[in-house]
Amino acid sequence: MGTGTLSIDLAAIAANWSALDRFSTAETGAVVKADAYGTGIGRAARRLAQTGARKFFVAVAEEAADIRQAIGPDPEIYILSGHMSGDTDMIADLHLIPLLSSIDQMLRHFEALPGTPFGIQLDTGMNRLGMEAGEWEAVKSLVLPQNPMLIMSHLACADDPSHPMNAQQLAAFIEMTDGIDAPRSLAATGGILLGPEYHFDVTRPGIGLYGGLPFADATPVVSLSLPIIQTRDVLAGESVGYGNTWIAERDSRIVTVSCGYADGILRVMGPKTHFFANGTAVPVAGRISMDSICIDVTDVSDLPSALELLGPQQSIETLAQNAGTIGYEILTSLGARYSRRYVG
Ligand SMILES: *Cc1c(COP(=O)(O)O)cnc(C)c1O
Repeated sequence: MGTGTLSIDLAAIAANWSALDRFSTAETGAVVKADAYGTGIGRAARRLAQTGARKFFVAVAEEAADIRQAIGPDPEIYILSGHMSGDTDMIADLHLIPLLSSIDQMLRHFEALPGTPFGIQLDTGMNRLGMEAGEWEAVKSLVLPQNPMLIMSHLACADDPSHPMNAQQLAAFIEMTDGIDAPRSLAATGGILLGPEYHFDVTRPGIGLYGGLPFADATPVVSLSLPIIQTRDVLAGESVGYGNTWIAERDSRIVTVSCGYADGILRVMGPKTHFFANGTAVPVAGRISMDSICIDVTDVSDLPSALELLGPQQSIETLAQNAGTIGYEILTSLGARYSRRYVG
């Protein structure tokens, strides 16, 4: 079998949820959009539900089918993109709660599914999704008697505790929702770490559950092991890979593993990235291809049958740094071709 093995530690996801839950007095939800950040939405959601999560968040209604199946009828599933045209049947059949982000969505929901649960999404300065203060003011008296399940907004800069935007958005959220008798939610992972004034009634952690920053104390969740499919010796002066970008400076031993940029190992990370052979760091040799990567193992005396890319020696954050991106993008890019193994 040539495919790599992506191990997903469900006990670590549960431990991260519990740790974030202990941080706040609010109810802790769980964001499971994008296939639970690449970890597998059904398995992750079921474990989170067993651990105590009762409010789940997905980006789009289509993502909810698998988790409804996994967690049963009771937990709430919120849709961050609200009620889009074409969503009505799914919302009704799966008992979803759209977080309405515009007056159009509000009218659509009230007309198509009157009397069914919904939440409201407010914009407090990010300018991405949600009703602005003026719109909200205009419809508030219509919305509140319908008992919204949740009134939420999202922070733009919560990964930087010193950013003045955090306090600005907090003040705007309080101003837009003060005195309202509905549960409120402002904080994702970063917001939880900013402190209790950001927690309100419900928090919405995502990345922290899956082991990523800004939750620095998170337990790592994924590890990735790639079997070696070929070993060869190259002579000093010979080249390896596309474009001949790597030239052996000495007689070298090169192995090839079958994974590449089609599996989320981004081409751009090549020059800075190491794999691990029984704990020894070994550098990528040449360009990352679509399905294979060559690695210089000349300095390894006892070559294992597989190399590690993610695990105790190297986190998603290191790969993110190597690629000039964030752990979120590394996780959600890990492709469908790995064989997935659930542990814990
Ligand atoms: C993705 C998302 C979250 C989760 O954010 P993390 O930074 O991954 O914790 C919460 N709320 C909204 C609106 C989101 O889009």
